[in-house]
Amino acid sequence: MSIRELIVLGTASQVPTRARNHNGYLLRWDAEGLLFDPGDGAQRQMLMAGAAASDITRICVTHFHGDHCLGLPGIVQRLSLDKVTRPVFAHYPASGQHFFERLRHASSFYDVTDIRQEPVTAEGVIAEGPFGVVEARRLDHSLDTFGYRLVEPDGRRILPDRLTEHGIAGPMVRELQEKGVLGGVTLEQVSEPRPGQRFGFVMDTRLCDGVYALAENADMLVIESTYLHEDERHAVDHGHLTARQAATVAAESGVRKLVLTHFSQRYPDSSRFHAEAAEVFDGEIVVARDLERIPVPRRA
Ligand SMILES: [Zn+2]
Repeated sequence: MSIRELIVLGTASQVPTRARNHNGYLLRWDAEGLLFDPGDGAQRQMLMAGAAASDITRICVTHFHGDHCLGLPGIVQRLSLDKVTRPVFAHYPASGQHFFERLRHASSFYDVTDIRQEPVTAEGVIAEGPFGVVEARRLDHSLDTFGYRLVEPDGRRILPDRLTEHGIAGPMVRELQEKGVLGGVTLEQVSEPRPGQRFGFVMDTRLCDGVYALAENADMLVIESTYLHEDERHAVDHGHLTARQAATVAAESGVRKLVLTHFSQRYPDSSRFHAEAAEVFDGEIVVARDLERIPVPRRA
């Protein structure tokens, strides 16, 4: 069984609190480990969560405010210390290239990791692989910000009993998968449709088209809800979302599992985010907690 889960490294916006680290997320998706927005302390949070630097294959930074990138120096240097020599791809807004360079080379260390810098200059597909594609969409914050989503293509699931029924075994299975038909037996006869999964990641932003594009039919949507509705004025002024807005997007976009995070320090009680979101979204809601592992829901 391949693992698809979100490991929450932190849930605080702007400043850490006693209960919340600066935000940060590791998405484990089969052989991929996508590290999103590593804030300050991400290296130690990974240790606490039971994740290793060597799990990281890709780093995606939405924007260059400290709570989304100050963990990069520690992560980059830890990759080298742990002798990760395969490429690690880094995606971030191209306008923040100078910030990335500083964080990448923040202090002296024995540098062996092949960090492939892939700055995002426009919306669209930024990476392709066995996982499908990673896409970027523009968000609306006080500086250049991109959100990301992972889209797995639809496929087919092989049914072992049907294979037996048709006398197909061993290397014949792969041959059938490649050719689509073998000895009069079609792939359709021995398999069923397997819908691709989607993961959306929306950080600091006002409501905008990009938010909806990233949320569309997501099996899991990780989205900032810095504020509660009672402080919506602050959310609009500072380029953020409320829990109600985030949940409304989820409800209108066919999201299955909604993960709220990036909370303002003004709300020590996280349960209020759940209550507010549940007023408008009837799917599964998770108010993220530091070091929590949240499974991507199984296919419907
Ligand atoms: Zn932030």
